[in-house]
Amino acid sequence: MGIIGHQKKLSYLQNFLNRGFLFPAFLFEGPEKIGKRTIAKEFIRGMQCEKTILGGCGSCPACINANAGHDTMVIDDVLAARCQTKELSYDPYGIEGVGHLMAFAHTTPLRAQYKIILIDNAHRLSFEAQNKLLKILEEPPSYCIFIFVSHKPESLIRTIRSRCLVVQFGLVPRNHILEYLDSKQSKNTAPGRLAQYGMGRPGHIMELCADPVRVTAFRNEAMAILKFQNTPFPERLTLVPKQEKESTPAPFPLLDLFQITLRDMLLYAHGAGEYAILLSRKQPVCNVKEKHVALRESLRLNDVIDGAVSPTAITRCFEYLALKL
Ligand SMILES: [Zn+2]
Repeated sequence: MGIIGHQKKLSYLQNFLNRGFLFPAFLFEGPEKIGKRTIAKEFIRGMQCEKTILGGCGSCPACINANAGHDTMVIDDVLAARCQTKELSYDPYGIEGVGHLMAFAHTTPLRAQYKIILIDNAHRLSFEAQNKLLKILEEPPSYCIFIFVSHKPESLIRTIRSRCLVVQFGLVPRNHILEYLDSKQSKNTAPGRLAQYGMGRPGHIMELCADPVRVTAFRNEAMAILKFQNTPFPERLTLVPKQEKESTPAPFPLLDLFQITLRDMLLYAHGAGEYAILLSRKQPVCNVKEKHVALRESLRLNDVIDGAVSPTAITRCFEYLALKL
């Protein structure tokens, strides 16, 4: 199935399929790149399969029909990117996108038992779009099932969250990742090192496996971060331009990984505990009141990287590290 870890959650979802009792809306939440969307897609295949096997049996008529995708709608970054390149005339995460979604939901299924709408990165839905969506969530057609996937579920309005059955996913333990890597017998990088760099996130490990150059690049950036910690303060400032010069333009997956690493490192350094893993769990922040300024700075930096469209964000990270670590 291509899913690493999450065995308990997979059994939990299989139980839903076995009982034939599904909620109108699910929210799959948890850190980035741990496999939530992959599992959501397997769950959808299970709903469509006559044998109700998670992932689908692949051979029953319902599974074969489902491959045509008539009764499934997916809103994700790929679709949103088509809007940016003007291939699509509307933003799928905007109010017009929800209009299309509602039109889809209000027509009965063509071939399958359910009409399923998967909204990946659901936190990208605008406030207006979420409010519009609420109307259909309040009285969904009996055949309609929504699956929201998000690593920032706190960005969804409370009234949407309260209508969802929340399935919470965590990081994948190292031994599960190692088992997977051993079975793949990758010749490029030692499994132990990949598991370490992947930080419990199979999605990142897949990206690193796909391109060994990224492993080296990530290692170099990580070493550069550690260098700041071991350098006397005045010399740190000279390291920033040096680092800027030496860093080759970072490919986006590396920037992505760098952001996660940096954010987790900084938040943990400020004693924010679980907050680093899932931003919606805000409770631990209350315990670090005296450090709230630094924490706010970390989150601000995270936003800077989050919205970064170029590797210059890396430079800002180094500047920040030079001053704060
Ligand atoms: Zn099937």
